[in-house]
Amino acid sequence: MSSTLTRRARIARKPATRKPTGYVVWQGASPYDGAPIVAIVTLKTSNRKTGQMAQLWILRADIAPTAAIRAGEDSSICGPCPLRGDGTGKARACYVVVAQAPTNVFKAFRAGRYPVATPEFVANLLRGRKIRLGAYGDPAMLPIDVVKALIATVKGWTGYSHQWPTISPEWAHIVMASADTVADRRAARALGYRSFYVVPANTDIAAIPHAVECMATRTRNPLQCAECLACSGTRGRAAVAVDIVIAAHGTGARYVHA
Ligand code: SF4
Repeated sequence: MSSTLTRRARIARKPATRKPTGYVVWQGASPYDGAPIVAIVTLKTSNRKTGQMAQLWILRADIAPTAAIRAGEDSSICGPCPLRGDGTGKARACYVVVAQAPTNVFKAFRAGRYPVATPEFVANLLRGRKIRLGAYGDPAMLPIDVVKALIATVKGWTGYSHQWPTISPEWAHIVMASADTVADRRAARALGYRSFYVVPANTDIAAIPHAVECMATRTRNPLQCAECLACSGTRGRAAVAVDIVIAAHGTGARYVHA
């Protein structure tokens, strides 16, 4: 009896070994402004629009995401994206609620809860799964080889970049060009990109040529990104030939104008 109790006590004292929920896959200087940034893959994030997909987060490594926005230092991870607002956190049209998931991921990173791993190691964990490139931050802030390694084993991905005018056209195989105007769409197409075109709410999306409405927001038979995967540049297995259009949504929608 006493030896059973001793064994139980030993088991109770043993620290629980929890599997990491994410990994740091890259850290370095932002190609935009040289500030320290970090790329983290979380394995099991889900939301209503995307469904179950691993997520790639690109964050400032030294400042909390909300503070970075207030100081205008989120450009290190978002570049010149116009959805950032006025550089002080006002007039933000970005749909990401930065005080929630990005802040939680940043806190876990600073608390050392994400081990450092190579993209190839994480790609092994992602084999046959799906990943969203840029749950927050622009994936093109990372070396393209990091992103290529992460998607080498997956069943599908989605990705978006506002940096398409200035980055290597090789990114067109992987990400959608985030487009805010008709002229953006045209210019992105000339560079070989498909566009993810955000239009003001109440736009007649059906009247926009060579484009289809985002499958997650269409009223008939909506799909989650994890099922759809149409936003995977020109080389994704589920990529379609046309651009994707979405009506501005979320709290920032009022800042999106034609
Ligand atoms: S078109 Fe498909 S992959 Fe792209 S955002 Fe909409 S649901 Fe997601």
